[in-house]
Amino acid sequence: MRAKSRFAPSPTGPLHLGSLVTALASWLDARANGQDWYVRIEDLDPPREEPGASAMILMQLKAHGLHWDHWIDPKAHDGVLFQNTRTSHYQAALERLIAQGRAYLCSCSRKKLQYAIEAGKTIHNPDGEIIYPGYCRPQQQASWSPEGAPQRFEREDREGCAWRFRNPDGDDFVIRRADGFWAYHFAVVVDDAAQGITHILRGDDLLHSAPRHEALRKALGYPSISVQHVPVVKNELGEKLSKQTKALPLRTDNAEVIRLQLEFAWSHLEFHMPQGWIARVQGSWSRLRQQPIRPAAPAL
Ligand code: GLU
Repeated sequence: MRAKSRFAPSPTGPLHLGSLVTALASWLDARANGQDWYVRIEDLDPPREEPGASAMILMQLKAHGLHWDHWIDPKAHDGVLFQNTRTSHYQAALERLIAQGRAYLCSCSRKKLQYAIEAGKTIHNPDGEIIYPGYCRPQQQASWSPEGAPQRFEREDREGCAWRFRNPDGDDFVIRRADGFWAYHFAVVVDDAAQGITHILRGDDLLHSAPRHEALRKALGYPSISVQHVPVVKNELGEKLSKQTKALPLRTDNAEVIRLQLEFAWSHLEFHMPQGWIARVQGSWSRLRQQPIRPAAPAL
């Protein structure tokens, strides 16, 4: 089976130099290794989305020569998988976890978790999230009836409750939020498996998510994936470039600017990625660099 990789932006805004670094790294890696490279739009959180951002992101990728392989699916658009079309698959995966006693309902509010921190019952993880102190965690694994149906756990959604993954290493994270939206950690694992992804190269802001994803893959019986991380680009205050830190959108209206943006991304990779990796992708970079650049309207 052909190896596959993907770039999976969230449409919270247009791409900026930080996201270009990740996209370029993942594209070069896939092209150098003869892998398919898909784009998946992670539009799971409508309140955080910016109207028009998905179309803008796709236009920005094309303008930088980062063309993707088409995901063939009736619901795909321009060969791109949109997570908002995948609800029934997430529901099916959740039901499998529930049936195995690996997902449970959690009614803990943010405030309750904050109290748990103040009372010294738990701590923050390296990403600043509160490690779930296990209040709603069922004490035992599901016990199985002769028909194979779980005995002990509720199966129905309850208003105001989230679904959590019962993680063997104790880090029980949310897989479906109390507001009904699917959590990134869950959808990403289900979709990587559905798309047959074998390799991932993404920003190191997601480094601590890797064990969560691997635990979920195991629980759902999905194959494991090789995951590598690229140091994210930071501004002069040491903050990750992002919409929140007011990163400027990539420009697509001028060939020289596009070239400079690509050169910036490449120098970041040259500086931060292992020598062996750079040597491996060098040929793909040289080819990308020689391609004519076609600026795209509208100017940002
Ligand atoms: N959607 C995530 C983001 O924009 C990336 C997910 C991933 O690569 O696993 O940060």
